[in-house]
Amino acid sequence: MTTPPPLKNDCFALPPGVAWTPVDEALARLKASLHPIAGTAELDAMAADGHILARPVVAKRANPPVANAAVDGFGFLASTVAGSVISLPLITGRAAAGAPYEGSVPPGNAVRILTGAALPSGVDTVVLEEDCAIEDGTIFFRGPLKAGANARRAGEDAQKGDQILPPHQRVRPQDLALMAATGVTRVTVFRRLRVGVLSTGDELRPAGHKAAAHQVYDANRPMLLALLARWGFEPIDLGQAPDHRADLAAALTRAAHESDVIITSGGASAGDEDHLSALIKSEGQLSVWRIAVKPGRPLALGFWQGTPVFGLPGNPVAAFVCTLVFAAPALSMLAGGSWNPPCGMKVPAAFAKSKKQGRREYLRARLNAQGAAEVFPSEGSGRITGLSWSDGLVELDDGAATITPGTLVRFIPYSAFGQ
Ligand code: AMP
Ligand code: MG
Repeated sequence: MTTPPPLKNDCFALPPGVAWTPVDEALARLKASLHPIAGTAELDAMAADGHILARPVVAKRANPPVANAAVDGFGFLASTVAGSVISLPLITGRAAAGAPYEGSVPPGNAVRILTGAALPSGVDTVVLEEDCAIEDGTIFFRGPLKAGANARRAGEDAQKGDQILPPHQRVRPQDLALMAATGVTRVTVFRRLRVGVLSTGDELRPAGHKAAAHQVYDANRPMLLALLARWGFEPIDLGQAPDHRADLAAALTRAAHESDVIITSGGASAGDEDHLSALIKSEGQLSVWRIAVKPGRPLALGFWQGTPVFGLPGNPVAAFVCTLVFAAPALSMLAGGSWNPPCGMKVPAAFAKSKKQGRREYLRARLNAQGAAEVFPSEGSGRITGLSWSDGLVELDDGAATITPGTLVRFIPYSAFGQ
């Protein structure tokens, strides 16, 4: 197992004087300043689904290992036949997958062969069973047939020694098939990134507990923990901390020991009750990014005792959107993955909206039966119902825009984030 170098303390610093950072610039800065911080470990290849590869995977065996038949039919050597009507006597015996024909097929003869069977010596071509007539132990078919027809070459899919999977790729079920087929048994992967989730705010009560009228339930923590688990990280529930400096410091210190990265929500701006940013500013390293995005407010990026901290806004809608847009790609990089911008699609709008110049907007959206994007009627960032109602976000670019029904807009399904 190896441990990579930590991030530099000043990696989140913005140039002085920057007012509102455009989303693309914020993302480019994140991308440039982050590198994998998770250690690596060897793993049984068949147990690697969902893990991120730390090294390229190389085929230990060719696929297919030897030339074999692609169809059920009859095998022969192409160079020994000619003409438009071909007749070949059948030899006794057959070649099946798992039961090869051990002998050699003499030139001018054919052997019964089934899909997946290794081509016996003396066979390089297979004629389809349906294309043959059989009479008195001889097959007849129309030629010419190209040499190698209906046969799979040894190693035509992968050769021994080929790189079959690149580093930084997350292993998927089809990758298990590829590794199994090419004899790969061990892989080197990044250890799952441990991501701690801490909610902050005096008004918060854990879900399911008694709450006074002025208190609200902690909605962010279960949401963030579940998102992180879906994205293949190891979520760590750090509970909640009050708006109290010493308690918050103690919670962050505990968090820094248990996690590779800490995600907090609440208290991230510069107000009187924004204890998180004040604390990290005075006792850790903090850079508050005022990103030109709605919903969102400042994103606080910093370090507590060497552990990176992502300070999200408290509003559940803003916390959710900022996690998808900023934290997902950043965590992917820290975990050893690649920087994967989510794939969106252009669809017609099923709504009207005019938008001012100067900030990017994300609208809670879903596709209707005609494939057009509907948006949630309220853009209020406390409206958690809109998160549940929607299946993705419509992303409106930084410039001014007037959208009417039918205008093409970019829809990004929630499932495209964190991949
Ligand atoms: P803050 O960012 O701390 O100023 O919080 C902004 C708003 O989000 C306030 O209305 C908070 O009560 C609310 N809020 C903060 N954290 C959470 C949370 N974990 N769950 C639900 N609402 C929250
Ligand atoms: Mg607060």
